[in-house]
Amino acid sequence: VTEFEIIRRYFASLSAPSAQVLLGVGDDAALLVAPADEALAVTTDTLIAGRHFPPHTAPADIGWKALAVNLSDLAAMGARPRWFVLALTLPATHANESWLSSFAAGLAELARAAGVCLVGGDTTRGPLSITITAIGSVPPDLALRRSGAKAGDAVCVTGTLGDAALALHLLRAGSAGREPQADEYLSMRLNRPSPRLAAGLALRGLASAAIDLSDGLAGDLAHVLQASGVGACIEVAKLPMSAAFVRRHDPAQRLRLQACAGDDYELCVCLPPDQLAQARERLGSLPLTEIGRVRAEPGLDWRAADGASLELNLHGYRHFDD
Ligand code: ADP
Ligand code: MG
Repeated sequence: VTEFEIIRRYFASLSAPSAQVLLGVGDDAALLVAPADEALAVTTDTLIAGRHFPPHTAPADIGWKALAVNLSDLAAMGARPRWFVLALTLPATHANESWLSSFAAGLAELARAAGVCLVGGDTTRGPLSITITAIGSVPPDLALRRSGAKAGDAVCVTGTLGDAALALHLLRAGSAGREPQADEYLSMRLNRPSPRLAAGLALRGLASAAIDLSDGLAGDLAHVLQASGVGACIEVAKLPMSAAFVRRHDPAQRLRLQACAGDDYELCVCLPPDQLAQARERLGSLPLTEIGRVRAEPGLDWRAADGASLELNLHGYRHFDD
């Protein structure tokens, strides 16, 4: 197949013309109409086989996740997602009907659910790598930044932490023949993360700061604290766990899985404690758990339930550590 056939067959159909897309896939560039009085929120993320997903991940899951990680960034800005472009690098072994149709189906499933439209991209040959650039929009005053956290704010997270990291751990242990596979719920959390788009929109005007958790709470929260010029104290016993996580994790690994390992794609937000009830009401069934408080003194401390300070030097995932 040529790249032109690939584009026409698998990707052009994802590009439906609309009031916001004057011209989508097929010309030298897309022509988009931005909503009046809104700022564009633009983000890009690359997934590399073997680094961001296990090499044998189902192609539909890869398609879903490549878009999900980008939409998660838009959610963390409080932006409404609108368009995306896809730069796809494929080895010859993947340039076939079976891989491409599954990949495109997983991508299309989330694109439809989130109301975003594929408007262009690039297709090349090489080691498998997927780069998506997603564009959303938000009234500039309502964008959720990393820099607004204030001393006294509650530090909160949506959903539960550590599920994807536990799934990956069980997957690796399973293939090494030591333990059974992860259960279906944990695998879904690894392969099909749900970007918290509705939560990001709902927290406009309430959250003082927000970030999405992609590289682990310890590292990502530290970015918020640094950008805001504050510190925080987190109670480790409050980090929310799913039922599947409770069942399957080794307690000695809890903090590593929940605070360091990453791939959660939940939102971490700071907000005044008296806004917490309203924030929870707006989020409906998605839990928003208070895990600690922002303080004026810089740094990030971890406390046990009895208040004892834990001598932990936790940090998130870093690409250039090894
Ligand atoms: P050019 O050489 O002018 O950059 P290309 O041949 O790379 O154009 O792409 C042709 C058209 O197909 C462009 O509109 C481009 O945005 C689109 N396109 C290329 N690859 C993809 C892809 N993987 N997904 C969606 N659109 C794509
Ligand atoms: Mg061109």
